[in-house]
Amino acid sequence: MSRPGSGARRHGDPRNLISIGDLGPDVADGIEEVMRLTDSFVEVSERAIPKVPTLRGRTVVSLFFEDSTRTRLSFETAAKRLSADTMTFSVGTSSVKKGESLRDTVETIEAMGVDAIVVRHASSGVPRQVAQWAEASVINAGDGWHEHPTQALLDCYTIRQRAGGVAGKRIAIVGDVKHSRVARSDVGAFTALGAEVTLVAPPTLLPPSLDGWPVKVSHDLDSVLASTDVCYLLRMQRERMSEALVPSLREYTALYGLTARRADLLPEHALIMHPGPMNRGVEIAAEVAERQGAVIVDQVRNGVAVRMAVLFLLLGSGTEWGGESDR
Ligand code: ASP
Repeated sequence: MSRPGSGARRHGDPRNLISIGDLGPDVADGIEEVMRLTDSFVEVSERAIPKVPTLRGRTVVSLFFEDSTRTRLSFETAAKRLSADTMTFSVGTSSVKKGESLRDTVETIEAMGVDAIVVRHASSGVPRQVAQWAEASVINAGDGWHEHPTQALLDCYTIRQRAGGVAGKRIAIVGDVKHSRVARSDVGAFTALGAEVTLVAPPTLLPPSLDGWPVKVSHDLDSVLASTDVCYLLRMQRERMSEALVPSLREYTALYGLTARRADLLPEHALIMHPGPMNRGVEIAAEVAERQGAVIVDQVRNGVAVRMAVLFLLLGSGTEWGGESDR
């Protein structure tokens, strides 16, 4: 399994966002630029009419081969707030059901004239492949176990907004790291910004090799919590497990769930995060998700403005990641 951010081309990818590493030669600069732009799109989102004409005449298509609630709605809302036209491709009602190949599907969509394709797929590497076929910009909305870069950007933004910045923060990422594209993108982004990341999971839920991952590892959540500024919980990705990796969900919760008792071990200022969808009562107690420090709803809200920033940078600014935008 590759190192977080390793999908990066050496000098970033100015046209697409497939991996956190695509954000430019200096990933931290690229993330900071997205954060600065997001500030202005948060302001737009708070207006009575949250819409700007920036991407008028541009078309954004969402091509989702895997289920999604937040990511898909968030990208579509972001595109609409920028006045882009949107198209939604539903696998279940498309010719993919008749056996049409991915390549033919992409070429069909491109022939209609689109500017950006937002792709989610159960297989790692599909968005990169689509980018090789398409002229349009490709944005990875989650591919298999690989990456989910806009989730990491919205997570960075939420930490910056609620805790003043990511640098120096002690972040525990807890749970099914092995199957989590969120964990891979988050580790790449958080460490690029100077956070200290600890993965907390049973050995069976960690990647077989952590070579090159700039993280610490712990199998004991209780001992980590008191020195944690951000506790980031991952969903058990049961759809990606081909074998039983924990004896039972009950036993998983007993050792790694953020129960109310465990949440009390966190410092008062600590943030509690989750990318959604939550399994309340498994990785996070229902009550804990409502606590003061839980910023799960902020993550969703910020996702729209972050995706507006990404669409603007790829389609509207005429500049490359990490460069000066004209906005
Ligand atoms: N929504 C996130 C993803 O698509 C996290 C999850 O599904 O657990 O990767």
